[in-house]
Amino acid sequence: MVLFGPSGCGEEFVEEGHSGILEVPAWIKAKGLDAYEYSFGHGYQMSTEKAQLAGEEFKKHDIKLSLHAPFYINFANPDEEMYAKTQGYIYTGIKFLRAFGADRLIFHAASCGKLSRDEALALTKARFIDTFDKMEQEGLLDDLILCPETMGKTQQIGTYQEIVDLCTLNKHLLPTFDFGHINSLEGGSLKTKDDYKRILDYSIEKIGYEKTNNCHIHFSKIQYGAKGEIKHLNYDDLVYGPEFDGLAEILIEYNLSPRVICESMSTMPKDALIMKKIYHKMLDK
Ligand SMILES: [Zn+2]
Repeated sequence: MVLFGPSGCGEEFVEEGHSGILEVPAWIKAKGLDAYEYSFGHGYQMSTEKAQLAGEEFKKHDIKLSLHAPFYINFANPDEEMYAKTQGYIYTGIKFLRAFGADRLIFHAASCGKLSRDEALALTKARFIDTFDKMEQEGLLDDLILCPETMGKTQQIGTYQEIVDLCTLNKHLLPTFDFGHINSLEGGSLKTKDDYKRILDYSIEKIGYEKTNNCHIHFSKIQYGAKGEIKHLNYDDLVYGPEFDGLAEILIEYNLSPRVICESMSTMPKDALIMKKIYHKMLDK
């Protein structure tokens, strides 16, 4: 079964008089959703004690929780000190997964910077092997999943092929397919079921059905230009896409059970529910 939830609670949560992470799980449950993504995009600004308390609430309400690691992660920065920092962000992310009792860490792999794309990708691959092999040997990963994300800007490492290929490097690596990003990078390429099928077929061929089945998905409409992603929009946007219907169709046809997280600009819980309804309506047909 596909699970649906938002990244953050947006304006609705505040308008209904709520605040703080401890109130999130019951609220998400009451909205009819199954999952939630907490973003540490701007740094790990929370105590592990608080994460533990929040984790108990998520467990109590049976809401599956993923964490998004800081945006500063860059496995392709040639500077060794910066690489050590990138590793540190992953280590801290794992510490928070444990504190929350969450199962997956989402992160942006790398940016090209001054390197050519080939150089940046080669460096990212070598460091993925170095970092994740070591973490595995240290016994840190166990049942955890680490999910590098497909990115929306041309300068970032993160086409769907690059991300899937990176996920061959360690058994704990599973892709985050951000279809809004893919659509932005490819100039509005995602329209029909077959457009999504192309991506999932590539994934199944390279990393197998099991990993593809458990993959992570980000879905939102995103404004784009010549260099890709410009900004996240709400699902009621009619200009940029992508629409969720084609993805729902292929998820059902392939019997896949990913976790779908909605990253709309401000109405993410409402939009996650719209996607859940599209999926279940098709499923019931
Ligand atoms: Zn992201």
